[in-house]
Amino acid sequence: MSDPIQKNLIAITDRIRQSAEKCGRNPETVRLVAVSKTVDVDRVQEAISAGARILGENYVQEAREKINALSRNDISWHFIGHLQSNKAKYAVRLFDLIHSVDSVKLAREIDKHAAKIAKHQRVLVQVNISGETTKSGISEEKTIHLVKEISQLANLSIKGLMTMPPFFNAPDKVRPFFAALRALADRIRAEQIPNVQMDELSMGMTGDFEAAIEEGATLVRVGTAIFGER
Ligand SMILES: *Cc1c(COP(=O)(O)O)cnc(C)c1O
Repeated sequence: MSDPIQKNLIAITDRIRQSAEKCGRNPETVRLVAVSKTVDVDRVQEAISAGARILGENYVQEAREKINALSRNDISWHFIGHLQSNKAKYAVRLFDLIHSVDSVKLAREIDKHAAKIAKHQRVLVQVNISGETTKSGISEEKTIHLVKEISQLANLSIKGLMTMPPFFNAPDKVRPFFAALRALADRIRAEQIPNVQMDELSMGMTGDFEAAIEEGATLVRVGTAIFGER
């Protein structure tokens, strides 16, 4: 019997490599976050067996069950959904990287709980690069200020930026937003803020990850193309 998850993973990995090579990037600088929200433990295990090493989850409660069930695997779990401050405590225990920090309030909660377990929590700042009112993320104009405030928190370290553009399956429409996120990361890097790195750009999903790679993505978050429609 053919295993569609394994087949899909191989195909995605291949497309990632091709897009990187097409624009002269080392394919190893682009990592795949396999987005497993709503996917059950058995199918996540299949993805792990097929080589997935970073898994992305959107809901703390759902993720906690899966992470416990799959704890014998050497997996890096990333939180990519909207994080409520009252869930920060659990997120800090469960995730290596939180992609979605978009307020000082949330950052302080994460810092507080990270301090309690003597952890250095890595985070990305989520930017609402298109300026749409409905999306989570800090506005582009306010990002540098937020980054400076977060940089003061001892148990947090900023690794880069994340964005969710407003269109799906329209790579040419979202490309300017990816380029804008990269330009913003370059501006922040130039400020040389202590305790802030701009190594990671988390952008690109099933419909547009190739365009994101061409614009500099280092983490692409792909769900549907691996696990099928949710
Ligand atoms: C669900 C989700 C993804 C994956 O989207 P697909 O289109 O299924 O690849 C990526 N990023 C975030 C933040 C998501 O919520």
